[in-house]
Amino acid sequence: MTHVITQNCCGDATCVAVCPVNCIHPTPQERDFGSTEMLYVDPGACIDCGACADACPVDAILPKDRLTGAQREYAAVNAAYFEDRADAASRAAGGSGSEPADHGPNFHAWGRPVFERTLPSDFAPLRIAVVGTGPAGMYAAEDLLLHTGAEVTLVDRMPVAGGLVRYGVAPDHPGTKGVGDTFARLYAHPRVRMYLGLEVGGDVTAEELAAHHDAVVYAVGARADRRLGIPGEDLPGSISATTLVAWYNAHPETAPDAVDPSAERVVVVGNGNVALDVARILTADPEELAGTDIAAHALGALRASKVREVVLLGRRGPADAAYTRPELLALKHLPGVELVVDDHDPRIAEGIDAAGAGDKAAVLRGVSRRAVDWSLPPAPGRRIVLCFHSAPAEVLGDGRVRAVRATAAEGELEIPAGLVVRAVGYRGAPVPGLPFDEATGTVPHEGGRVTGRPGTYVVGWIKRGPSGGIGANRACAAETVGTLLADALDGALPAPEHGARAFRRLVRGRNRRLVDARGQAAIDRAEVARGLRAGRPREKLATVSELVAAARGRRRLLG
Ligand code: SF4
Ligand code: SF4
Repeated sequence: MTHVITQNCCGDATCVAVCPVNCIHPTPQERDFGSTEMLYVDPGACIDCGACADACPVDAILPKDRLTGAQREYAAVNAAYFEDRADAASRAAGGSGSEPADHGPNFHAWGRPVFERTLPSDFAPLRIAVVGTGPAGMYAAEDLLLHTGAEVTLVDRMPVAGGLVRYGVAPDHPGTKGVGDTFARLYAHPRVRMYLGLEVGGDVTAEELAAHHDAVVYAVGARADRRLGIPGEDLPGSISATTLVAWYNAHPETAPDAVDPSAERVVVVGNGNVALDVARILTADPEELAGTDIAAHALGALRASKVREVVLLGRRGPADAAYTRPELLALKHLPGVELVVDDHDPRIAEGIDAAGAGDKAAVLRGVSRRAVDWSLPPAPGRRIVLCFHSAPAEVLGDGRVRAVRATAAEGELEIPAGLVVRAVGYRGAPVPGLPFDEATGTVPHEGGRVTGRPGTYVVGWIKRGPSGGIGANRACAAETVGTLLADALDGALPAPEHGARAFRRLVRGRNRRLVDARGQAAIDRAEVARGLRAGRPREKLATVSELVAAARGRRRLLG
């Protein structure tokens, strides 16, 4: 028997450190790390101790005999990774690539412990501000708290913590949201101060923040969305996936009526994981979604929704689609939703049929293939249609979206649709007071240190661009914190001009609606209580006023 890593894996490698036989790969020390869609357990070496399952923050690891439904496919997915590695190693050694793999427990050789990110015990505690409470910021804060005696000031422009875990992860992925519980443990840490609802570049300047801290780490993500650059993309009825995701996650800056699901067919431009999230939520049974923390306004709209068909338009073929295999596997097993491949181009079937067992396109074997007649309304039932080798050319409509014109191998397609969702990626936005590279949408840096700004650092998507999932931020944060601590040891951090009390006075004078850690806890309790009353696990507060009032209800609002 073996344990198996499944869909929720965010690749943070927490499990690697606890496995006594080193059978979870790729490890952060291996070249593949960060380039695979998830981590994998070697079934031939696993001794089934369960330590990894206890450590995983998103409950992604299960004993093989407890896999159900779509999870069952992951036993083969895990095993295939090691077969491919064995074949590649064999070929590199001059073999045929088909010799049996050399499985077996690989017990760690315990050497002297190495502490890569630490400061001498007599080093004066640093005071570090971390701007952004999403995964990148929280991994950086965790690293600082675990490895140093630093005091951490957590700042977020929203009056509630969580960043993309709260406002980016789809509500039907509660396991992935579980990583937020790991981060939430840090909110009440005695060396953490929280200032939620504080905008850097609004309430305080970057210079003021720096003047009150030894260093500032920006983890502000990539808030903007990339544009299609085609006519009609700004027509009413054409929205960004950023808007739709914020809508179903109750983001206070997105109106409850920002999405109108009254059309029978929706076209999503793009086929990355966010596009798949959008397709799943729009076709899901609303009563299933009622068991999640989806925004109450979105749940109400989806209960009245007329959407029956979501078409995912992708420029490339099935072998090169942007989604990851785990998310596509999940799409195949959606209850009551048919998955269809539009067979309008011979390259599509060829690509699927010729795919190797471990290839992304192979997941589509057995999925219904047919040439969709777009002149007809969607057939009864709910379905997701994958339309490969189709590039959007124009959003058509007179005052409102009517259809999407796309180029295809043989001529053009015109797909009637009442809603178009642009899901072609995120893009970083300039951070006031910091340099910005318009071409990449990132802040220029060396190992996380912002170019030309001693004491200022970046982590996450604003550092490396919008790629990689939640877990990728752990290694990214380790690099940035490593650079910061090296700078501290080198005496390269500018001395702060003011202390923690002065900072508190400054921000309280600028913004009377700040929320601290107790206010955050009060918001959490209020949302769970609302959920209980509605028979749901949680009902999120969807406006700044409601969030601040919930925090103030416990009389823990700063100011
Ligand atoms: S989420 Fe992290 S701990 Fe869980 S399986 Fe993936 S890499 Fe391991
Ligand atoms: S069950 Fe134990 S041996 Fe198997 S992968 Fe997990 S930690 Fe390693």
